[in-house]
Amino acid sequence: MNRGTFAIRAALAALCCAATALVPGARAAPSRLESEIEQRLRAHIDMLASDAFEGREPGTEGEAKTLRYLGREWFDIGLVSGTNDPGHEWFAPVTLVAREPASSTAQFRRARRPVYVDPEGVLMLTSGKRSLVRDAPLLFVGKAQDVDFTRAELAGRVAVLLDGDVEGGARQNALLGQGASAVLTVLDGERTLEEVAARRRRSGYALADDSLGGDLEGFVTREAMVALLKGSKHSLDGLERLAAEPGFTPLALDITASLEATTSETTIRTHNLIGKIPGRRSGAGAVLFVAHWDHFGNCGEETAEDRICNGAIDNASGVAALTEIARLLVRGKEPDRDIYFLATTAEELGLLGAHAFAENPPLPLDQIVAAFNIDSVAIAPAGTPVAIVGRGMTALDPLVEKVARREHIKVVPGDEANEYVKRQDGWAMLKHDIPTVMVTTAYGEIALMRAFFDGDYHRPSDDLSHPLELGGAVRDVRLGVALGRWFADVERVPGPVPPEGKAPPSPQGN
Ligand SMILES: [Zn+2]
Repeated sequence: MNRGTFAIRAALAALCCAATALVPGARAAPSRLESEIEQRLRAHIDMLASDAFEGREPGTEGEAKTLRYLGREWFDIGLVSGTNDPGHEWFAPVTLVAREPASSTAQFRRARRPVYVDPEGVLMLTSGKRSLVRDAPLLFVGKAQDVDFTRAELAGRVAVLLDGDVEGGARQNALLGQGASAVLTVLDGERTLEEVAARRRRSGYALADDSLGGDLEGFVTREAMVALLKGSKHSLDGLERLAAEPGFTPLALDITASLEATTSETTIRTHNLIGKIPGRRSGAGAVLFVAHWDHFGNCGEETAEDRICNGAIDNASGVAALTEIARLLVRGKEPDRDIYFLATTAEELGLLGAHAFAENPPLPLDQIVAAFNIDSVAIAPAGTPVAIVGRGMTALDPLVEKVARREHIKVVPGDEANEYVKRQDGWAMLKHDIPTVMVTTAYGEIALMRAFFDGDYHRPSDDLSHPLELGGAVRDVRLGVALGRWFADVERVPGPVPPEGKAPPSPQGN
């Protein structure tokens, strides 16, 4: 090194320190621990977001590789299986089913004679595998608003309902719930049969154990309904007028219907990965950390050169952070409570792995004192404050803020980040009354997250082709570790955190 460079360096160093003093939130050089965390995060992400992992799609070789890698890491760190199921150590099976309408038939008779209706004008659907009725009489129910039906009125009948552009399927479900064999909705307004059909085709995956309704629901175009009523006592116009009159009562039509719908199923067998650090005090509850391992597999345009959606940020970065939080917590002193680590499947298909965990949990859900989700954390630079996604939805906020203060990490006020609360596994946990928040730098400077959503998010370009910013992720890991220690400590957090307004039980007891 020559003197000249030395002088420049010295000047730069002075500039640097002056800047540190003047700019609030300016960052100090990373500590050795922080450098180690960053290195390890990068190694996990480089592995999980490599093309070899094929975009980590549930049910594919990409899943097998992902779970082998994470399972091995977690085992080496010193976690134990957290499934609490000797039949399925580490990997909790989750079965997903996508259902699509397969066939639809509708035949009508008047005085036992067939009445021709254009098959293109009627669409029958079922949420089950197959559902049918034979020669059931049609009962016109108008718009079925503010009408109470008796079971006897509807039982064994096909309720014919005017759509009237009333959103949602509440009326149809009510009629089925009150005993109708099927509901046939007349599309008398804006929506078309094609739109109804397209919506059903797009319904996507669900958990396989969601109860299979055997309901039978149909839609008929206005033209087809007019054709069906030709030769009847009532025209469609006439029925609409009757339905609009005060005191309207359901009206039997002189028509019977044989209706059938079938559904085809595609099944995916996939897994949640669950590990834990056993606490010293069994029965003292648990802390839960969550991050989804899955992504989309191939999601680029058919013709694109790179079709693999590697999900480097979403969510290789999150499972990397989850893994490093686990490593650092194992290194610390034995916690009072169990600390669970859950890598969920099928987040991208609708938070399904998180729902599966909550519906078939390895521990009673009310034992979970606090849960922290980690999703897409490679966003913000070092020194970024953290936001609480889910702020105000649990009683955890003041405790999270306290722990952050002790770590000298600023928490941004307000609940702007809650705009995204439904787009992450924490939402599924909240729906099952598990107190869950996402505490992260990724939403601490929300413009950075918005830029990601507008850019590489769910595209093949969320990959390793550009260097990832991990400064904020390192901070997330450090804070995650501190939160884990705090909430796993029965002195600090004596029991389930009560909703705001109620004082927590005193740690001293009595
Ligand atoms: Zn995503």
